[in-house]
Amino acid sequence: MQSFKDILLQEEQGQLPDGDGGAQTLPLSPSLSNLAKFVSDPPGPPSLSESIVLDDLSQVKQDIDDLTKSCLVGKMLGATVDLRTIMFRTKADWQFCKGDVEYLDMGNNWVMIKFVNPGDLYLVWADRPWHVQGELFVIYPWKPHFDPYVEEIKYVDLWVRIPRFPVELLNFDSVANLLAANNIGSLIRLDSRSILKHKVRFARACIRVDITEPLLEYAEVTRAGGVKCGYVIWYEDFSIGCSFCGCDDHVIDNCLILSPS
Ligand SMILES: [Zn+2]
Repeated sequence: MQSFKDILLQEEQGQLPDGDGGAQTLPLSPSLSNLAKFVSDPPGPPSLSESIVLDDLSQVKQDIDDLTKSCLVGKMLGATVDLRTIMFRTKADWQFCKGDVEYLDMGNNWVMIKFVNPGDLYLVWADRPWHVQGELFVIYPWKPHFDPYVEEIKYVDLWVRIPRFPVELLNFDSVANLLAANNIGSLIRLDSRSILKHKVRFARACIRVDITEPLLEYAEVTRAGGVKCGYVIWYEDFSIGCSFCGCDDHVIDNCLILSPS
């Protein structure tokens, strides 16, 4: 059987098979002639050594650098929310952004968020965590090799309250030590109210937790004289009950410690 290339080459030579198997001379078609040349001498891909590390290519380096400076990735924790809603809600929260923010559906509910103004990325990242419809919208820095169908949410930055935390311990080092020593998580930052001590009902801290492990709701510290002091860790997104005393049979507004009847 003749291949398409054979037929084209025959036509290049002015021959086409007739019904009896012989050859007929026909005027050469210019367009088919060009196509035959293309088929017989295809432009191959640029030749690269098989052992080359693509990350070493200057273009790849440049793209990784650009993407790192301009992109975050995000995914709703638990709840599935459509991209339009995520865009609408986050843009409302991120009105401080000076440049455009672009959203790309990566698949498997991951969203790539590109900031035209890199300074906006810094502000969004610094002010995490963010919520959409009351649920955590987890964001991470973009990284090479990111595969939305493999990547899972493991570390989540979220707010906790530490009721009745002593004023003298309301500083970054003390809270970080409390969280680390009790395997609660790592401290990202303290809420300014905790730092300024304007409202000393609880310390409020943004911490990073491993969401694949049970969240611990109690922490203990050792004070002078070996005195052990325990504190409730109240997760704003997950804990139930009173964020002041830690009891789960009432909310803070009805706490008898705060408002004895
Ligand atoms: Zn209470």
